[in-house]
Amino acid sequence: MSKRDYYEVLGVDRSAGADEIKKAYRQLAKKYHPDFNNGDAQAEKNFKEVKEAYDVLSDEQKRAHYDRFGHQANFGGGGGFEGFGNFNGGGFGFGGIDDIFEQFFGGMGGGRRRHQGPEQGSHLRYDLEITLEDAFSGLEKTITIPRTETCEDCQGSRAKPGTKPETCSSCGGSGQQQVTRNTPFGRFVSSQVCVACRGEGKTVKEPCPACSGQGRVVKDKKFEIKIPPGVEEGTKLRVSGGGEAGLRGGPAGDLYVVLGIRSHKQFQRKGSDLYLDVSIGIGQAALGVEMEVPTLDGNAPLRVPEGTQHGTVFRIKGRGMPHLHSSGKGDLKVRVGIKVPKRLNQKQKELLHEYSKLSGEEAGVESKNFFDHLKDAFSGG
Ligand SMILES: [Zn+2]
Ligand SMILES: [Zn+2]
Repeated sequence: MSKRDYYEVLGVDRSAGADEIKKAYRQLAKKYHPDFNNGDAQAEKNFKEVKEAYDVLSDEQKRAHYDRFGHQANFGGGGGFEGFGNFNGGGFGFGGIDDIFEQFFGGMGGGRRRHQGPEQGSHLRYDLEITLEDAFSGLEKTITIPRTETCEDCQGSRAKPGTKPETCSSCGGSGQQQVTRNTPFGRFVSSQVCVACRGEGKTVKEPCPACSGQGRVVKDKKFEIKIPPGVEEGTKLRVSGGGEAGLRGGPAGDLYVVLGIRSHKQFQRKGSDLYLDVSIGIGQAALGVEMEVPTLDGNAPLRVPEGTQHGTVFRIKGRGMPHLHSSGKGDLKVRVGIKVPKRLNQKQKELLHEYSKLSGEEAGVESKNFFDHLKDAFSGG
């Protein structure tokens, strides 16, 4: 009994979506409907065939069974093997039909994968290191990556230009071969990937010379990457369709550019804030000073007030990194260190002695807090 493949009947690809199947069915049902064909016998036969195909392919579960078992799958309409539904219902204590096949046929492996449908190409990752300045202002950069592309000579068909892939004679183009096995439950007929065409349903007699019959070639491809201001270490930029070419007419994968940011010799970054260390002299710390500090965008004024202590952090609002997902910028945080001079000339020494005397420093070190602290530690209080 030869029966046409349901997908063939509806004229859709095996990977067709529900909408596509519905659309194909409607068109064909209209075409073959007895009302429109004056009771033509062939049209009626076609109509029934189309309806049967649609009944199966429009039902997710039935379609899945059909994809695996072909016309041997029993959908309750007679034929095939009996009791199929019972197995599926778990009546024998199995989890379902998958388990049964796992047990009797084990290692069907590739048999359950659909090889014929279009397949998306692989995604690609490209690591790009940029400077903190680049991350601050954003930039456009051209990158070149080798990737597979659909062969232009054969348009991905794998066949020499002027020839066409032929329907596989081993499987008749279905990409599946049927294997019959005897089990305690009776004869099972299962489908597995056709060996001759590796499931593609087509064979190529004369391979395309440009791609050696692969349908794809590796080429250096240039991409203009636009990096927005405010990107961070690990930010991923997606270039849709920038990955490897798809298989059998499938879409290309995507390209992900993953950013790394080189450490800066002056600034450290935490989120959108920048940190900067500056040092001032003891006189400046004591008397206060108006100074300029560097930012990633020119200098900024900073007023250090008199009596500033070592390690004080001043915030300069809005002079940090741009926010990636919103407007505005983070802050620049300036930590002030105080430099104690290592060498003094005679005059400086005299002045500092004078200063020390005036401020009572020469009477002795302030030690109270230190010893109080030790005492507390020993007494356990
Ligand atoms: Zn080619
Ligand atoms: Zn084949």
